Amino acid sequence: MKLTKASILMSASLLLATASSTPLAAAPDFDPSKPVMTELKSGVYQYSQFFYNSLVVVTDEGVIVTDPSGEVRAEAMWEAIQALTSKPVKYVIYSHDHFDHSRGGQIFKAQGAEFVSQEKCTELLSRDLEDRVVEPDITYEDKYAIKLGDKQVDLHYFGPNDGDCMSVIHMPKEKVLLAMDWHLPGYVNEPYRLNTHNYVAILNTFERTLQQLEFDTVISGHMPSSSPQAFQEDHRFHKALFDAVWSGIQAGKTTEELKKSIKLPEFSHWRGYEENLPAHIERMAYSIWHGN
Ligand SMILES: [Zn+2]
Repeated sequence: MKLTKASILMSASLLLATASSTPLAAAPDFDPSKPVMTELKSGVYQYSQFFYNSLVVVTDEGVIVTDPSGEVRAEAMWEAIQALTSKPVKYVIYSHDHFDHSRGGQIFKAQGAEFVSQEKCTELLSRDLEDRVVEPDITYEDKYAIKLGDKQVDLHYFGPNDGDCMSVIHMPKEKVLLAMDWHLPGYVNEPYRLNTHNYVAILNTFERTLQQLEFDTVISGHMPSSSPQAFQEDHRFHKALFDAVWSGIQAGKTTEELKKSIKLPEFSHWRGYEENLPAHIERMAYSIWHGN
């Protein structure tokens, strides 16, 4: 698919127009295969396709991207980048280990990009039976700063999250936060996604992020758009869920009783609230009881 700068900008404005009023999935004419490159700050873009978002940072010395999310998407992302700059991709950041995010980076490896992840991802990424994940070149333990041209992208490890090696990705100067699968604003997501979702640890990540990082722009892993207000609301959801489940457990209630009795009316307008909330109550109870 050949993209021009004009078509990218036009689809970006269409996406923003839809995203501001309705959830993306609800827009009848929305085509998730269509690549959308949205400029958030000078040289800082959100690339969206197939309901996956990546950060794209363009500098005079090259480009930084996050999460290829499959070969087809990586190739389309590279085409869209070439409409912005003639520079190569220098760094690919893996937000976390899950294969749906990490596969498909070979096109960037071929142009000399270095791949970066939190150190606990290395072993997990090596388990891909389809062998489609480029292994990390650079790993870090607590914090790592990528500096390229006039831009800096920081990776923070705030502990377990969705999986064990989630990087909280932050641009300190541009005040951009990339919060991947742990932040899906306005959405009580499907139960099958909760297996690796360490709820207590994710609440901890929200609190450390709010305490330590300054941001005025937020990219979510899969939702079309977010904001500091949506991030705060999502934190309130996690805190309210924790508080309700915690006090129920302290009062001696079983998980089955909690699933029937807990309601979080502030969030009843969120997509998936009615059908999916009981599974989230169960997962939070498991996380409190089991520690992960
Ligand atoms: Zn994801």
